[in-house]
Amino acid sequence: MPNVDQGFCRQEQFRISRDLFDLTGKVAIVTGGSRGIGRAICLGLATFGADVVVLARDRVTGEDAAARVREKGTRSLFIQADVADIAETARAAERTRAEFGRLDILVNNAGIGAQEPAEKVTSAEWDAIIGVNLKGLFFMSQAAAKVMIDQGEGGRIINIASIFGIVGSELGASVYHASKGAVVNLTRALACEWAKYNILVNSIGPGFIVTDMTKAIQEMPVLAELLEKRHALGRFGCPEEIVGATVFLASRASTFVTGENLFVDGGYTAW
Ligand code: NAP
Repeated sequence: MPNVDQGFCRQEQFRISRDLFDLTGKVAIVTGGSRGIGRAICLGLATFGADVVVLARDRVTGEDAAARVREKGTRSLFIQADVADIAETARAAERTRAEFGRLDILVNNAGIGAQEPAEKVTSAEWDAIIGVNLKGLFFMSQAAAKVMIDQGEGGRIINIASIFGIVGSELGASVYHASKGAVVNLTRALACEWAKYNILVNSIGPGFIVTDMTKAIQEMPVLAELLEKRHALGRFGCPEEIVGATVFLASRASTFVTGENLFVDGGYTAW
C-alpha cells in the first residue's frame, strides 16, 4: 500500500492560496448573458477577472450588459445569436477564439420557460422549448468543446439547470421540466466523455429567482407566496446569488468536481 503521505494525489502542483477563485486571463461565453441570471453571471465572472462574451438575441440589452462588464475592467463583446440555431452557436465559439484568442469557460444559461397544461402542449411548443433549453445547450457545448480540445488546456462548462430538473410541479411546465431533467443527466454524460480533455462539466440548479422569467408569478401574490414557502428559506433568490456557485465551478477551486449538479435553491429540494 502506498503511504498516504506519499499520496495518491496526482495534482501535486495544487496550491491553496487566496487566488483560488481568480479568473484573470480566462475567457468565458455566457449564453443569455443580457438579462436576469446570465447578466449577473457575466458581471460576476468579470469581477473575478474573466473576459466575457455576452451572447443573446436582443442587441440593445446585450450591448448594455457587455458595456457593464467592461466597467469592471475586463474585455467584453456582445455576440448576437440564437442558441437554437446550430450554425450560430458554432460561429459564436469561433468568433470568441478569433477576438480573444481562446475560450476557457462556457456558461449555458439561455433558457425559456413554459406555461401550458400538459394536455394542451403542441408539437411546436415542445420543439421551441427543447430547441433552446436542451438542443441549444448541447450544440453550444459541442462548439465550445471543439475550441477547448484544440487548445489542449481543458475547460469548464457550466449548465444552468433548475430545481425543476429533479422535481415536478403543477405549474404547466412539463416540457420545461423535461428539458431541465435532460440537462442534469446530459451534464453527467458530457462530464464522463470530456474528462479525458480535462473539460469539467457541471450544472447549477437554481430555485425560483426574481427575473423576467418569473415576472408573471411575482405578479400573482397568492401563487408567489405558496412558491416562496416551498423554499426552506421562505423566499425567492436574486440573480446575484447564482454567481458564487458559478465562479466556484469556473475556477481552480473546483478542479476535482465534474458531473455534479449544485442546487442554489434556498432549500427547495431539501424538504
Ligand atoms: P430571463 O430573465 O428570461 O433571461 C433569459 C436570457 O436568455 C436572456 O438574456 C435572453 O436574451 C436569453 N435567451 C433566451 N432565449 C435565447 C436564445 N434562443 N438564444 C440566445 N439567448 C436566449 O431568464 P432567467 O430567469 O435569467 O433564466 C436564466 C436561466 O436560468 C434559464 O436557463 C432558466 O431556465 C434558468 N432558471 C431560472 C430560474 C428562475 O426562477 N428565474 C430558476 C431555475 C432555472 P434574448 O431574449 O435577448 O435572447
